[in-house]
Amino acid sequence: MCIYKFRYVDGLDQGKGMYLLFIKPEIITPAGLTARPVLTSYYKSNNFRNRNFNRFNIYTSPDETILCSDSKQSMYCQLLCGLVQRDEVLRVGAVFASAFLRAIKFLEENWREMCSNIRTSHVSDWITDPSCRNAVSLILGKPNSDLADLIEYECGSKSWEGIIKKLWPRTKYIEVIVTGSMAQYIPTLEFYSGGIPLVSTMYASSECYFGINFKPLSKPSDVSYTLLPNMAYFEFLPVEKNREEMSEKIQCNGVSDQNCIQEEDKREGMQTVDLVDVKLGHYYELVVTTFTGLYRYRVGDILMVTGFHNKTPQFRFVHRRNVVLSIDTDKTNEEDLLNAVTQAKRLLEPLGFLVTEYTSYADTSSIPGHYVLFWELKMRGNNDFPELDHTIMEQCCSTVEELLDSVYRRCRKKDNSIGPLEIRVVKHGTFDALMDFCVSQGSSVNQYKTPRCIKSEEAIKILDAKVVGRFFSKNVPFWEPFRIETK
Ligand code: AMP
Repeated sequence: MCIYKFRYVDGLDQGKGMYLLFIKPEIITPAGLTARPVLTSYYKSNNFRNRNFNRFNIYTSPDETILCSDSKQSMYCQLLCGLVQRDEVLRVGAVFASAFLRAIKFLEENWREMCSNIRTSHVSDWITDPSCRNAVSLILGKPNSDLADLIEYECGSKSWEGIIKKLWPRTKYIEVIVTGSMAQYIPTLEFYSGGIPLVSTMYASSECYFGINFKPLSKPSDVSYTLLPNMAYFEFLPVEKNREEMSEKIQCNGVSDQNCIQEEDKREGMQTVDLVDVKLGHYYELVVTTFTGLYRYRVGDILMVTGFHNKTPQFRFVHRRNVVLSIDTDKTNEEDLLNAVTQAKRLLEPLGFLVTEYTSYADTSSIPGHYVLFWELKMRGNNDFPELDHTIMEQCCSTVEELLDSVYRRCRKKDNSIGPLEIRVVKHGTFDALMDFCVSQGSSVNQYKTPRCIKSEEAIKILDAKVVGRFFSKNVPFWEPFRIETK
């Protein structure tokens, strides 16, 4: 799978990849079987352990650091090893863009301690996982104050613009998935990268590996994946939408919107077409029948045919069906969001407040990103603006979080890959202003429905200009590894 990349980038066998890879907790199902996310299974497999036979597959992270179940120790050790071997690093990456940016943020918070470890050749005492500690100590080798000085100099500069190029100067590309909902991270990645290309190589899921990108150096917006016909039996449900509708201004993360969901629902009962019968420029929902027993399973991804590799169709990932918010591996749909908001707003009812409108967006301007809900409130019986009670509003934030699904709660509690949920209360009439804006952009007044998720920066500015109170969840939501989850 990785060999094809070497047709496009020379000399990758002359160094190492700094790939930040992590395992997630395993669970025992009621039937006594071990269940774990697909990548955890792969990292624990012999295939992964024995990958070094291929000189293109040499990583800076020792396997012990990848297999460490404490994600903080794992992250620290992998970054430290990456810094120590900086001269050998030819490519850097993680599976998803969100995970890579989390690592950069972690580095921002920990580079001083890492430099001290390099200077003294002593791994911090809080790295207690014995195999991790041993593996990192071996890589640290002798005290290296020149390297520590150099890293301190680069990391100590005021701006971290281009930091990846500065710390790992031989890096030829950053390998992270930046298509679909991960596209929201491209500007931040470009800021840190210093012009290094972003490469999305694969399109895969826990259920099935789908395809690869045969032009890894293409711009993120031009990336297409060629489905590998031997991975599963692929079928396609046609999506009755044209391109213009897909690029509406007011849209959700991953380019989904209410109309889209309704359009998709009309497709129930439609006939699928086979891989050989898909047509250029047409949109389809992917359906797979896998070797492991899924029969005509609707993956939930909408794809567009962009071309053919020989006779195999190539697809652009358009969006996920019915996902409105996503920061990391979480996928919150409109129904989950509605349910959570409905329950949380009950806390305000005894105080005489009503939530008259709401919408949301995934704020990724800081790392980790977080969900933002805009709420317009009204006092029952009059139009006075309510006095907001901080404690109750914070409870509303926590209640929404408690009611989101277990992947969201795991990202919040275990992985720290999502920050505390925020509610921004807006002035009376704000959602009318939002409607005026949508109408000015071409929405029909008759059929206007408040978008439950906003992506347009202009629309977010309109809402932000009318914010009268901002509240954050003060509690980390409950999560325990009792359910089967992915990635
Ligand atoms: P999971 O169910 O957690 O294994 O996630 C699989 C889903 O992640 C896919 O069905 C897609 O929605 C998304 N995904 C995986 N690879 C890509 C990619 N290269 N570009 C966009 N989305 C992707």
